[in-house]
Amino acid sequence: MEGNAGSDRMPLLNPKVRKNSFLEVELGYTPEQAMEEAGRCADCSDKTCISGCPLNVNIPAFIAEVARGDFEKAYEIIKERNILPAVCSRVCSVNPKCERACFRRDGGERVSIAALERFVADWHNFNTNYGAEPAKESAAARRIAVIGSGPAGLACAGELAERGYEVTVYEEGPVAGGELAENMPGFRLPESALARDIASLEALGVEIITDSRCGRAEELLEVEGYEAVYIAGRSKLHAEADIKGASLKGVFSADCFLNWVCSKNKEKYYIDAPEFKSKKAVVLGSGAKALDAARSVRRFGAEVTIVSRTAESDMKVGPNELRRAKQEDIGFIFLSSPLELIGRDGHVAGVWCEKLMALGDEKTGFKYIPLYESEFEIRADIVITVADSGREYFETAENGIFSFSGDVPAAEAMSAGKKAAAVIDEYVKSRVRV
Ligand code: SF4
Repeated sequence: MEGNAGSDRMPLLNPKVRKNSFLEVELGYTPEQAMEEAGRCADCSDKTCISGCPLNVNIPAFIAEVARGDFEKAYEIIKERNILPAVCSRVCSVNPKCERACFRRDGGERVSIAALERFVADWHNFNTNYGAEPAKESAAARRIAVIGSGPAGLACAGELAERGYEVTVYEEGPVAGGELAENMPGFRLPESALARDIASLEALGVEIITDSRCGRAEELLEVEGYEAVYIAGRSKLHAEADIKGASLKGVFSADCFLNWVCSKNKEKYYIDAPEFKSKKAVVLGSGAKALDAARSVRRFGAEVTIVSRTAESDMKVGPNELRRAKQEDIGFIFLSSPLELIGRDGHVAGVWCEKLMALGDEKTGFKYIPLYESEFEIRADIVITVADSGREYFETAENGIFSFSGDVPAAEAMSAGKKAAAVIDEYVKSRVRV
């Protein structure tokens, strides 16, 4: 297991309350706690935290401002690279790459970079009235349309607005944020944090139109007069796991389940869902989505076990996130592969698994080998499956249409959105203005 990232220095909601509440688990630093934590940064000569961050935020510089108590200056430094800091600091905290790259290891604890970024973003957002000032406008602005308001779309829109473009984001759903709004349960990303970051984007002049099924990208260019269109799509949403028995009643894909959870918990923090109460739920997967699904169904009163193909040290989530799940009485069966789902009368009744052996180590990477005659059954009333992400990731440019489609963590999607903005900027500048 990796050494501790430091985020558990942050005050946490009591696990007894967490078991049936979608309130945010991490409670955030006070200014004094933030300054104390910031004082732990060694301002190393080889700043590996910066290269570890997918957005390359100047981490030691913003932390130094926090240590000095200049939180607004710290916010400005973060915003140079990260347009959604309240969101990113929460979503990334499941496995923060910057913290994994942090040199500081006193007592096994690294600097709590995500928690400090969250403090700065919240401090700024709570002390700013975004509605007070009219959004920036430029009469000479050139117009760009963004389709999709997930992290890639928002980051692209924010970057283009910073560069002086007039940007309109079209979102099909009722709330801006895409997967952040629709698949991220409130205990990890409360609606208010997303709304505040989006308000700061709107203050930059970005227009976001929800409930909007805009026409095809070509129409936006030819009829609506946009100079470029960025399609920030989602891939693999609602993907089904490839396992025998997946069509039995009581089996859900993690995407569908989380989508349903978010449609409820974004409005209420306590949800009565008797269909899950006291049921045995098994979640098949080893990443952030598996943990989100497991922790959500636990909050409905189910007894939950995660079956992971990997060893504990090879889970695709950070140690803090695992610790939080264990505090909430979620059980784990590591090194086990689901073979098929067992049904009775058309409903799922169990998962047939086999044991695996891990070869290798954390440095060289693990290889998992099935063990002979190691099959076993786990009883289950509910099974939640997590499909492999596939990590599709591409951008194309054709007559002013640019696109991104990825199933990647939010910070990486934002990084792709920012890069796309730079390419679009170059493309538009190369065109003769009509
Ligand atoms: S690696 Fe850690 S201790 Fe070093 S500068 Fe970055 S945050 Fe500070």
